[in-house]
Amino acid sequence: MLEETRLDTEELERLGALIPGPEPVLAPGKIVPVCETRLDGNELRYLTECITSNWISSAGPFVGRFEEAFASAAGCTRAVSCSSGTAALHLVLAALGLKAGDEIVVPAFTMIATANAVAYTGATPVFADSDPVTWNVTAATLEPKITPRSRAIIVVHTYGHPADMDPIRELADRRGLFLLEDAAEAHGAVYRGKPVGSLGDAATFSFYGNKIVTTGEGGMITTNDERLARLVRRLRDHAFSPDRHFWHTYLGYNYRMTNLQAAVGLAQVERLGDLVEARRENRRRYEARLKGVPGLTLPGESPGVTNVFWMYGILVEDGFGPTRDQLRIALASRGIETRTFFIPMHLQPLYRKAHAGERYPVAEELCRKGMYLPSGPALSERDIDLVAGEILRARAAAVPTLA
Ligand SMILES: *Cc1c(COP(=O)(O)O)cnc(C)c1O
Repeated sequence: MLEETRLDTEELERLGALIPGPEPVLAPGKIVPVCETRLDGNELRYLTECITSNWISSAGPFVGRFEEAFASAAGCTRAVSCSSGTAALHLVLAALGLKAGDEIVVPAFTMIATANAVAYTGATPVFADSDPVTWNVTAATLEPKITPRSRAIIVVHTYGHPADMDPIRELADRRGLFLLEDAAEAHGAVYRGKPVGSLGDAATFSFYGNKIVTTGEGGMITTNDERLARLVRRLRDHAFSPDRHFWHTYLGYNYRMTNLQAAVGLAQVERLGDLVEARRENRRRYEARLKGVPGLTLPGESPGVTNVFWMYGILVEDGFGPTRDQLRIALASRGIETRTFFIPMHLQPLYRKAHAGERYPVAEELCRKGMYLPSGPALSERDIDLVAGEILRARAAAVPTLA
């Protein structure tokens, strides 16, 4: 049987100051969820079409329609849908033909799927630290991690803020590396006039329930490389041969998206602009209420980019009053749901052994101080009033002289 990777008590104690405390319990009654989705476009109409036409599998017509609309939104000629953002990452890496010993540089500060997709292929994830302002990897943090065994770089547009891609593109070209954007959190984001999803050799998106475009579960690969698109399309569907149906020359997967999911996805992507605008409006409202509060660092937007603020992440600095975990408990007692930031990859029990002794100071500080507030497209101005008001109250209660 599979054995769980556990850290010994000594190691856990060492990490204790960095990793978040247990999840606070939400007060019963009305809650403000961290992300509530909106399905009030053509979702129901398209879903009904699936049922009445009897097309619910991946062979239905919405799959192609969704892919076409999504490719166009991402500024690419090709889009290939699949069952999740993780499957999308895995398909692209599988298409690269990686072998054991190959290295892929990924952010230390990301969701586990970025690193896991590398591990699925037998290659080794190598970690790079983040920029303290954008929370993304940069050419400067990536370059020292490149070795003769490196094959690719995966960049994550963290919480919706595009990474600084031009210098990273230059670095990847100079070192002969494949450049993959993990754009799971950044649908609709723009970098120097170009949509995220069109900035590397390929990009992957997730359509999990809390993502900016959702299909419940789902994913997409975008690229301008026709050969790559054809290969991932084939790998997605058991790598059936185009010549003889039950004939297989690649190790394929079943990572197909259903017509039902694509129907919802098409309805969502039709109004991508509105969905992005809802999140940017959340940011404006939070910023109007929280800007200048001592001890809070709010998320920014670098010149030349459109941040889509997938999640409105803040840093609770040491001078704030309550700690990050205390603030989360105070908000939870008012029915306000929050999440801590990612726990960096080198601190994960799963990856700790292979990366013992490595330090990523920015990723660690983000993990220690970061949390995101309710951020979904269905959030009202009153919800934001409530959340911001409770944050100020928690601060005043902990720092009475500053109240
Ligand atoms: C959500 C997410 C994924 C995984 O997407 P799934 O659809 O849940 O598999 C991968 N990378 C990042 C950065 C994510 O935020």
